[in-house]
Amino acid sequence: MTLGPLDLAAGPRHLPHMPDADRASLDPYMALIVGYRKSGLSLNHIIGCPLDCGYCVRHFWGNFEAKTPQLLCSTDEAIEQLVGHPAFRPGVTPLQLFNKATDPFLPGVKPHLF
Ligand code: SF4
Repeated sequence: MTLGPLDLAAGPRHLPHMPDADRASLDPYMALIVGYRKSGLSLNHIIGCPLDCGYCVRHFWGNFEAKTPQLLCSTDEAIEQLVGHPAFRPGVTPLQLFNKATDPFLPGVKPHLF
C-alpha cells in the first residue's frame, strides 16, 4: 500500500473558542489546561486535531473524534495559568506544550506555540 502525502494544510487557520456546553462535557483530564507532570508542567489550551494517528492518546479520553482544533481559553490566559502554577519556576521548570490534545504544528495551532 502506498500512502499519499499528509495534508499539512488541514484544519482552520484561526481557531474558534470551544462552546461552554462542549467544554463542560470534556473528560477532566482533557479540560485541564496546566498539568503537573513528574518532569515538569504541560500546557494544553487547544483541543482537537484533524490527523488520524492510530496511536493518539486522545483515544483514551474519548476525544479522538474532535477534528477541529478549538481554544479552551486565550493563549494569554493560558500563559497566566502556567506562570501562576505553584510548581512553575522561571527558567527552570521543563515545559511541554500541546502534548496531549492537538498537534503544535497545525496551521491554526502553530501561531499559539511561539
Ligand atoms: S493529536 Fe497528535 S497523535 Fe493525535 S491525531 Fe493529532 S497529530 Fe496524531
